[in-house]
Amino acid sequence: MDGFEDLLESNTAYAEGFDAGGVGPTPAKNLAILTCMDCRIDVFAVLGLDIGDAKVVRNAGAQLNSGALHDLVLASHLLDVNRILIMPHTRCAMASGDADALSARVSDVTGHHLREVTPRAIDDQQEKLLSDVERLVAHPDLHAGTRVSGAIYDVDSGRLIPIQRN
Ligand SMILES: [Zn+2]
Repeated sequence: MDGFEDLLESNTAYAEGFDAGGVGPTPAKNLAILTCMDCRIDVFAVLGLDIGDAKVVRNAGAQLNSGALHDLVLASHLLDVNRILIMPHTRCAMASGDADALSARVSDVTGHHLREVTPRAIDDQQEKLLSDVERLVAHPDLHAGTRVSGAIYDVDSGRLIPIQRN
């Protein structure tokens, strides 16, 4: 664990005050969230959640890729999830240019040329969110009755901006 000592030290302090033992694996708020891996999103704080309240899936851009879709569908069947919030955010790097631009930025910043990784860039963030919500809610394997919604989290104000097609 060379290079991770700070985390182990913090965990020691965390565990000393830990009082959530015995919380069950199904989310108390019947909620799953798909959000970005961005470090500015404190998911539980943003939504007023406690340990045990929600399942969280994260990736670059809060994108409904096949991995996220599989996890969320499974959660709707096995984990008592009956509402899913897809929550990308403002100033997301994945929505700041196309795949080529993101690859070029990697080269510019680090001098490394990506060989096997193609950034999953987002062209139009609102449109992507709307289409992801629609795709998930219409998915034939999603548990019947599962509600799906989308909102963009503003990393500068802390506010959620709900989104829906007019
Ligand atoms: Zn992001």
